[in-house]
Amino acid sequence: MTFKIVVCIKQVPDTNDIKWTEHNTIQREGLDSVINPYDIGAIQLAKNFKYLIPDSEITVVTMGPNQAIDALKTAVAMGCDDAVLLSDKRFSGSDTLATAYCLSQYIKTFVPDFDLIICGQQAVDGDTAQTPSSMAQKLNIEQITNVIAIKEANNDFSVCIKDTNDYKQEIKASYPFLMAFSQRDIDIIPDINGYIKAQNKTITVLNADDIKADTDSIGIKGSPTQVRKAFRPLNNRESIRIENESVQNIADFIVNEVNKCRTADE
Ligand code: FAD
Repeated sequence: MTFKIVVCIKQVPDTNDIKWTEHNTIQREGLDSVINPYDIGAIQLAKNFKYLIPDSEITVVTMGPNQAIDALKTAVAMGCDDAVLLSDKRFSGSDTLATAYCLSQYIKTFVPDFDLIICGQQAVDGDTAQTPSSMAQKLNIEQITNVIAIKEANNDFSVCIKDTNDYKQEIKASYPFLMAFSQRDIDIIPDINGYIKAQNKTITVLNADDIKADTDSIGIKGSPTQVRKAFRPLNNRESIRIENESVQNIADFIVNEVNKCRTADE
């Protein structure tokens, strides 16, 4: 039986000049975009599975505007077999909960017999790292986050290496489960055959009705997160050079500065 892998990728703005919508979310339409770096790692990991479990199939999925087709074509050129775009005006304004709901609805409706879901650990724009865990909860499956490598994989189980920053763990898991991959410095350079395959690939585009989404759970309506303010932190404080001062003087200076900040906050 085919081993079914679903890789979730997100297009992120390829710019530092981010603009905001009236809802304090990122204005994505019209921006140059790239695949989230962690998600390129997720694609590579899926390819590693394909190597270890020969009869494997990788479907890459993203929820986003029409321009996300570019990201999906790139993913196909990089080695994914199939590509799906979830796109619908009604998805617009979705927070992480609604995004995870849509992705889960797609999987429940179109790939209920999946074996493995691979996500990136986090998106470099939204940066919450909530989508994968939320999906695992909605699909009622186990999840392994912060995965940095696969030690072993076969049709019955795989052994992942998880990095917790303090120590590494080897975790053995049976399918189906979800993993979030936390390496962001992997590059995949497609070859000419990959580009030809991508050019000829028809990307499946699905809307809210196709994935049987409850319209109360998508878009702004299905998004409990309210962004009160979005801003760039300004670093406009002057640096101070302290020379030949005693430790006590430096400590007094720090306490004074902290107190000044506290008073300003009150
Ligand atoms: P993380 O949770 O950090 O991502 C981790 C991993 O989850 C990724 O590496 C990837 O594997 C997977 N993943 C994340 N997002 C997607 C995706 N879209 N498709 C497939 N896989 C994914 N974004 C819009 O594009 N349009 C909007 O209109 C919009 N409106 C928003 C409104 C509100 C109120 C808020 C709070 C956010 C909005 N966003 C919108 C942003 C969007 O909700 C998040 O970017 C998205 O939920 C993912 O969260 P994140 O960026 O923190 O990703």
